[in-house]
Amino acid sequence: MKIIHQQQSLTVYQSALYMTNSIVIETPELVLIVDPNWLPQEVEKLRHHADWVLGDRELYVLFTHSDYDHIIGYGAFPTAKVIASRQLHNQPEQVKQAILEEIRQFDDDYYVVRPYPIVYPQVDIMIEEDGHVLEVGSTRLTFYLAPGHTNDGLITVVDPLGIVIAGDYLSDIEFPYMYHSSTEYMRTLLKADQIIKAHNPQLLIPGHGNVTADQLEMEQRRLTAEDYIVRMRQAVSNNDQIVMYSLIADCPFPRNMRRYHEHNKRLLEEEITFTKIHDSTLPL
Ligand SMILES: [Zn+2]
Repeated sequence: MKIIHQQQSLTVYQSALYMTNSIVIETPELVLIVDPNWLPQEVEKLRHHADWVLGDRELYVLFTHSDYDHIIGYGAFPTAKVIASRQLHNQPEQVKQAILEEIRQFDDDYYVVRPYPIVYPQVDIMIEEDGHVLEVGSTRLTFYLAPGHTNDGLITVVDPLGIVIAGDYLSDIEFPYMYHSSTEYMRTLLKADQIIKAHNPQLLIPGHGNVTADQLEMEQRRLTAEDYIVRMRQAVSNNDQIVMYSLIADCPFPRNMRRYHEHNKRLLEEEITFTKIHDSTLPL
């Protein structure tokens, strides 16, 4: 597991798989780990990092959303206080079980043995609304609900460090993966703009891909994501395959990402059909 960014109180680790980022933040009052993932040795490294620096501080683990790759390391941190959205906590039991089953499937596929249990996060601090603030000493975490990719996402700002933890939004390598709703995804992108303007962050950390300290790039990533959704929606409603595939012509890892693009197509088709049935205009 390589370190892709390090400054005094922040380490961003990147998994060998899917460029997935795990974050360790150390402040005078707390140690916060975000989305510890993927492979057992990688999760163990994060565990060691936390154990090494913790001292008498409180350990928190934040989950940006419930996708299995993001909660896969939870069982290695049984004593941590867990922060996540109420929606993550409230997922129906069969959804929770399906997520855990994805972890077991992955582990069976690759003969992976984990020295910790595969369990769904027990949430201690539930985020229910935008602007929820958690203050621990001089550290201030501000949370924003971020549905669209999944229904249970969170964007978190850590001040005074000036860090935005974006979850699976604003990646430089992934176009929007819409499992939940394109309309909600657009709203979350709009919210991200407001968050960036309000907090003036120094660093943005996506769930997958590279961090950026450049606010112009943050804005560019947001516009690129919006543009993808608008064009894709248009192409799907016109059933224009050529435009549809031109949108991912230059994407990295095309053999994989094409599948997510096709999934977006199906979601948009369903949304468009639903909208037609309900005889209203297409929401943006
Ligand atoms: Zn992810």
